[in-house]
Amino acid sequence: MSATQPPPPDLLTDVREIVAVHSAKGGVGKSTTAANLACAFSRMGMTVGLLDADIHGPSIAHMLGSSASPEMVPGREQVRPLERHGVRYLSLANVAPSDAPIIWRGPMVAGALNQLLEIVDWGGLDLLLVDMPPGTGDAVLGLGQRVALSGVIVVTTPEALSLSDTRRGIQAFGALQVPILGLVENMSAFVCDCGETAAIFGEGGGAATAESVGIPFLGRIPIDPTVVEAGDAGTPICEARPDGTAARAFESAGRAALAQLALHGRAGGGTFDFDWEERRSDSWRGEPPGPPSGAPKEGDPGTPVSVWQVSDDVLGIQWGDGGTTYHRAWELRTACPCAACVDEWTRTKLPSLESVPRDVRPLTIRSVGRYALQPAWSDGHRTGIFTFRELRRGAGVIEP
Ligand code: ADP
Repeated sequence: MSATQPPPPDLLTDVREIVAVHSAKGGVGKSTTAANLACAFSRMGMTVGLLDADIHGPSIAHMLGSSASPEMVPGREQVRPLERHGVRYLSLANVAPSDAPIIWRGPMVAGALNQLLEIVDWGGLDLLLVDMPPGTGDAVLGLGQRVALSGVIVVTTPEALSLSDTRRGIQAFGALQVPILGLVENMSAFVCDCGETAAIFGEGGGAATAESVGIPFLGRIPIDPTVVEAGDAGTPICEARPDGTAARAFESAGRAALAQLALHGRAGGGTFDFDWEERRSDSWRGEPPGPPSGAPKEGDPGTPVSVWQVSDDVLGIQWGDGGTTYHRAWELRTACPCAACVDEWTRTKLPSLESVPRDVRPLTIRSVGRYALQPAWSDGHRTGIFTFRELRRGAGVIEP
C-alpha cells in the first residue's frame, strides 16, 4: 500500500472514539501510560485498541509482550491486530524487521502514520488509543486531518522543561480545535513499600500547568519500579498488579479521561439521556448505546438491555443474561469511583463523599458509548462515570 494513495473513505469507521496520547518529549512514560490506560479500559469492559504510531521508538509490542507478525485479512490489504491482555494492538515493531534502524524525517512520518491507520482491520472498537511520536504536536494535528479525533491525552513529568514543552503543544492543539481530554503527570512522586510518598520533583506542577492552560488534570502516576518491570515483562502493571498504587493511579486517570470523552467525544450525547425529574416514567430499552461491532452479545451479563426509573430514588437495570439490579441514588452517588470522590492512589473515600446529602438525586443520567453511565448529581457532582461492569458488580446496588 502506498502512502500517496487517497485514504479509504471508511477509515476507522468501526472505531467509536479515537484518542491520541501525546507528549512533548520522549522518555516521560507516554507509551507506558498508553499501554496501561488500554489495559485499564479493557478491564472496565471496553473493547480497546492501541496503535503504536511512535515510529521513532515503537515500544508497545514489547510492553504488551508480543512482537509476532499480524495475520492478513483474507482478500484485503489489511491485517488483523494482535491481542494481549484484552487489548488489540499493532506496532511498527510487528510489521517491520526488529533490527532495521528506524530513522524518519517529517514527510516519512506522516506517510508511515497514514499506512498504519489504513492497514489494520480493528474489527469494531469502543476506543482506539494512538501512541503518538513525541514532539510539538504536528503528528497529532496530522492525525486529526485524517480521522475524527475524539481528543488528546497529554503526558508529562513534573520537571520544568517538559512542562514548558507541554504548554507549547497544548497551545498548538487549541489553535486547531482538537479537544484536549487532559493532562497526566507521570513519575509524579516516589511511593515506597511502606506506603509513604516522596515528591522528588516537587508537587502540584502538573495540576497547576493544566489549570493555567485551561485543560483538565487527569491525575498523577507515581514513580514505581514495578511499572518498569511489568512493562519489560510484557504485562503492563494495570494487568500484572491491578490493585497496586500505580495501577490504581492509571485507572483513575483513565476514568477522568472517559468522563471528558463523554463531554467531547463522539460517544457524548449517547443513546439515552434520562431526565430524572421531568421524564420520571420514561425508560430506555433496546440495543445498548451504539455498539460499534454489531448487536450486543446475547446473554451477556455485562450488557444492559433495559434501564428505567423504578421510583423517585431507584434506578433499575436489566441485563443481557436476564438478571436485574436496583441502584439507589445515595448508594450509587457514594460508590462513585472518580478521583474527586476517592483518593486516586489509596482508594480511600475523600471528605467530599462523606458529606453527600441523603436526599441526593441524579438530575440526568446519560449513556457513555456502550460501556458506561454518567449521572449528573443534585449535589453538583458531574465527573463520575460507572461502567456497566461496575454496575453489574454491585455499584450502589440495593435489594429490591
Ligand atoms: P515514552 O513513551 O514517553 O518515551 P516510555 O513509556 O517508553 O516513555 O517510558 C520510559 C521509561 O520510563 C521506561 O523504562 C518505562 O518503564 C519508565 N516508566 C514510565 N512510567 C514510569 C513510572 N510511573 N514509574 C517508573 N518508571 C516508569
